[in-house]
Amino acid sequence: MKRHTLYILLLAVLSFAAGTSLAIAGDKARVFINPGHGGHDNNDRPSPFYNHGANDTTWYYESDSNILKGLALRDILKAKGYEVVMSRVHNTTADDLDLFEISSLAANSGADIFFAIHSNATGIPRKINHTLSIYRGNTREPVVEGSDSLARCVVNQLFRNQLTPWTHGPQVAGDWTFYSNWGPKTGLGVLRYNKLPGMLSEGSFHDYLPERARLLNADYCALEGWNLSVAIDRYFGRTRGYVNGVIAGVVTTSQLHADSVAIKGPRIEIVEAAPACGVKVELLDASHKVLSSYTTDNLYNGVYVFKALKPGRYFVRLAGNPGSERPVTLAPNASAYCNFLKP
Ligand SMILES: [Zn+2]
Repeated sequence: MKRHTLYILLLAVLSFAAGTSLAIAGDKARVFINPGHGGHDNNDRPSPFYNHGANDTTWYYESDSNILKGLALRDILKAKGYEVVMSRVHNTTADDLDLFEISSLAANSGADIFFAIHSNATGIPRKINHTLSIYRGNTREPVVEGSDSLARCVVNQLFRNQLTPWTHGPQVAGDWTFYSNWGPKTGLGVLRYNKLPGMLSEGSFHDYLPERARLLNADYCALEGWNLSVAIDRYFGRTRGYVNGVIAGVVTTSQLHADSVAIKGPRIEIVEAAPACGVKVELLDASHKVLSSYTTDNLYNGVYVFKALKPGRYFVRLAGNPGSERPVTLAPNASAYCNFLKP
């Protein structure tokens, strides 16, 4: 048992004796974050695509969205009282460490969990979009205890994101089972030497073009970082110390998405509407005072995000359109979603 676990137990006994809930004060859980890949090179799966908002070919690199998610997660976890160690904080080829080196760094960091951040791709024309977390071992039989419950916390929290359409439910798997055609007990390189409870999160599918356009928005990546922090809180049972949250959504038009393809799940076929670029969304408090605004970018994703909000009752609306106003209740340490159709 690690010293901090013993400390939590002691705290739990003391707070139970005092009739209070378990507080996070003094508990320094440590998280090792590995934003996947690094540098705009070949193993970063460079993916140029025509962006209908930019009216130009736009480059997407998975390493860019991974580092944005990772840095957001780092900052939020620190605000929540965690200690954080990163495998990289920049995005150069030199940051793209050898997988064994990443495992060694994690092992020597004193971290309690190992957390790799990625997004997924089918690599084939058939497009899907779901969240997947992978740990080392057979499915339901992780090599390191706790890895599967961390993975489950992650996919369940990410699946609640209503800015993207999901074709399948949240998925978790052991890498030996998932990549069984790679040979017995081979699995993912980055998990191979890892000794901590840990996993690799494939947040969504970046080769589904509407999702790739969302991943170009730094606040959309930060939203994923935020949701990952809530999942990590659940894993550690630290759900009461931090109360702020996030309200987010997308603004779409009634037109068809220019990259519209029907993405297919087991029972559903999803066709997306075109995002609205340059539209201002306003956040209002319970007394209808405008607190802030967010203008959707020109990268054809319609994303808006309001961060670090106290829990409570809010309203959101399209600026200059009082009829679009909708109430949103934000629970403590949570995400709330509200999507708009621009008339
Ligand atoms: Zn990746």
